[in-house]
Amino acid sequence: MESPTKLSLHTNHLEYLDVNIQYACNLACVGCISLSNFDRRGGVRISQGKQWLEDWSKRLTLGTLCLFGGEPLLNPDFEDWVIAVRKFFPHTHIKVITNGFYLKKSHVDILSKVKNTTLQISFHFKHRDKKLLTIIKNAIGHIDFQTTKSDKAEVFLKFTNKFINIQCARFGEFRKPYKNDKNKMLPWNSKDLQASIDHCGSPKNPILYNNRLYKCAPIANLKDTLESLDYYDNIAWQPYLNYNGYGLEDDIQSFIKDFGKPNKICSMCCSTKDSEIDHFADGMVRKKKK
Ligand code: SF4
Ligand code: SF4
Repeated sequence: MESPTKLSLHTNHLEYLDVNIQYACNLACVGCISLSNFDRRGGVRISQGKQWLEDWSKRLTLGTLCLFGGEPLLNPDFEDWVIAVRKFFPHTHIKVITNGFYLKKSHVDILSKVKNTTLQISFHFKHRDKKLLTIIKNAIGHIDFQTTKSDKAEVFLKFTNKFINIQCARFGEFRKPYKNDKNKMLPWNSKDLQASIDHCGSPKNPILYNNRLYKCAPIANLKDTLESLDYYDNIAWQPYLNYNGYGLEDDIQSFIKDFGKPNKICSMCCSTKDSEIDHFADGMVRKKKK
């Protein structure tokens, strides 16, 4: 008689997972999917995050784990985050998405040291920012790279060696996951969920936020953003605040099956082009005061 199949702890595989390690950002971009253009503060210390990574490494295997913000390089424990991700996810590709203004040699060195990494620097201004190009040059100038061509239209510069890829990217269009502006933000209340997800900028980008898995960055950041705006009690948001993500004990397979598919929370987003923002238009990106 065959013995019953033993269930592996790693039955759940995600190709991609963002991990939100920093809520604050030095820029404010209209339409930021992490809602970091609002007055979000702080981030997650590694003393807390290490346990999250250890626990989730027993439930998930990951193709790529992306350290995400806000601005992840503002996190004082950034280098320890990289080391901890490599410890608990030894075979996973580690990606970092940054606006680059705080990039230092030590960030590049730690990503090179743990290997199998991509540092993506997103350029948020219309013209290639010379100051930012100098910051990048100072941070990577000590390392040997080859300049290569990217197959992604948004990547305009790519440097690689056998340990790390560094790519500079520009995204000209953002999709605002709410309508109106600060203190008047409201859900779009789309009636066509399929059209909302068809217009979605991140339909297959799940995120670990405060140790729970969420379908996307906007829904993950919603509660804390509304609280920071003192707008949490607005009745229009209540149906979306009921979505609480998935914890370690929950059925991760049903979470995975939902990727790319319309969920009732997608009525939060717009089903038409009305949510589209020209990211490089005047006034769409602002440097926050320190
Ligand atoms: S740089 Fe802009 S898009 Fe990126 S996290 Fe900051 S506010 Fe959001
Ligand atoms: S709620 Fe749905 S449509 Fe809106 S950002 Fe998330 S996945 Fe996309």
